[in-house]
Amino acid sequence: MTATAPITQDLVTIPRKLPEGPVNLVGLTRPQLREALLAAGTPEKQVKMRVNQIWQWIYQWGVRDFDSMTNLAKAYRAQLAERFVIEVPEVVSRQVSADGTRKYLVKIAGGHEVEVVYIPETDRGTLCISSQVGCTLTCSFCHTGTQKLVRNLTAGEIVGQIMLARDDLGEWPEQGAPKDETRLLSNIVLMGMGEPLYNFEGVRDAMKIAMDPEGISLSRRRITLSTSGVVPEIAKTAEEIGCLLAVSFHATTDEVRDKLVPINKRWNIETLLGALREYPRLSNSERITFEYVMLKDVNDSDADARRLVKLIQGIPAKINLIPFNEWPGAPYQRSDWSRIEAFADIIYKAGYASPIRTPRGEDIMAACGQLKSATERARKSRAQIAAETGLG
Ligand code: SF4
Repeated sequence: MTATAPITQDLVTIPRKLPEGPVNLVGLTRPQLREALLAAGTPEKQVKMRVNQIWQWIYQWGVRDFDSMTNLAKAYRAQLAERFVIEVPEVVSRQVSADGTRKYLVKIAGGHEVEVVYIPETDRGTLCISSQVGCTLTCSFCHTGTQKLVRNLTAGEIVGQIMLARDDLGEWPEQGAPKDETRLLSNIVLMGMGEPLYNFEGVRDAMKIAMDPEGISLSRRRITLSTSGVVPEIAKTAEEIGCLLAVSFHATTDEVRDKLVPINKRWNIETLLGALREYPRLSNSERITFEYVMLKDVNDSDADARRLVKLIQGIPAKINLIPFNEWPGAPYQRSDWSRIEAFADIIYKAGYASPIRTPRGEDIMAACGQLKSATERARKSRAQIAAETGLG
């Protein structure tokens, strides 16, 4: 696999003259919202206040219609309703696991579908969100990697995942939601479908909206972006987003990592670690998380554990061991638990926190990218059969 050039999307630049058809306000940054309101005829001297008011209605109160924005004049609300909409992705299916994990399959523009997973824990509630339909990359242990990239999600489709989960959790103030850590949706991980750093602008704008104190108000330290190693974009994550960083590491030699995470052929382990040692926000209070999927007889030996510790020496880090979630046709098996515990023990004794990630929602196939592919495959085969047999 050759790591293709980053795909950027310039979908969200709003010219003074509004495009045909209603513009969705969800996903516009504050400057873009300002431009849109001016283009829709909002007087210059009022626009700053209008931006704040509308921003709070959408992101603090979760309002989806202009009529409910009672601190705006009726005529102005009507004017807004003519030019704008407030939309989030549509929930196509929702599954709840016996352990409380919720999985949403959501539809976005173009009829594409992505998945979103909510994982409740005693001290937090984490939403795993997607940044691409399919993925630019083809990591061989990942089901999403078997789905070719369709497109990047817009900032609206990314922040919209947070909003639809809050709807489902009843987490808007009207519904009596607290603003502090006790809320149900307290953490975000960009570990769903896609490589977030190959959609940098979309992810950056969406996370800025999510962190804005006048709206969803999520602390940057409760947002973790996981990358497979798009080296040129790593420092920008610290400078322009400021969230925590995780790396899909998964191997301790280039030979093995080339197979598991093919982007390694472009930026190998040494280059990646070099970029992480220069990470602008590196500190003991903001450690980088090294994600390590445990694959039987592939990357789970004691030698691997010792090599891993040696490789990351000097980097404030924690290591997340992920028991592999098998999916139909997967070329790997999960390591035995005794092997995972032995591996964790070596890392722990070397001074690193090495939590083993508890698989969640297995009864609803909560493994990354599983739900999406199921939908995709079913539709194709029936359509293909119809096309092939002409029995449409
Ligand atoms: S692990 Fe991440 S980057 Fe790799 S194929 Fe899966 S979604 Fe894409």
